[in-house]
Amino acid sequence: MMSELKYCQGPECHTYSTKDRLKGMKGNKTYQTRRRSFLVYGEFCDTRCYNDWFHKFGTRAVDHFGRLKEVKHLTEENAWQKTYNWNSNDDRVYVYHNKITQETRPLTENQYNDTNYTLNER
Ligand SMILES: [Zn+2]
Repeated sequence: MMSELKYCQGPECHTYSTKDRLKGMKGNKTYQTRRRSFLVYGEFCDTRCYNDWFHKFGTRAVDHFGRLKEVKHLTEENAWQKTYNWNSNDDRVYVYHNKITQETRPLTENQYNDTNYTLNER
């Protein structure tokens, strides 16, 4: 099944004169916004278009979704990070690692993959 093409959200996408953007019948060609089935961050044909968007809208987006106004702290209670090591058989050994205390606790693969499973305080 063909995946659906989506429009690049870069505000300047149509102004970049690449061959693939030039479309239309002879004598009536225009440079057009790219359409892709895969987009960077789901929205942009490439990082240039992503940067264009952020340059134009980034400050407004941050203000809209919540501007950080004080320092955040990574504490012992919130410093658990899922990771893995390799054992001598080249198998992954999943662990929880506390980035403050350096404590390590065992973790099953299911717990590792479960995005709701955490030792961190919420
Ligand atoms: Zn684009």
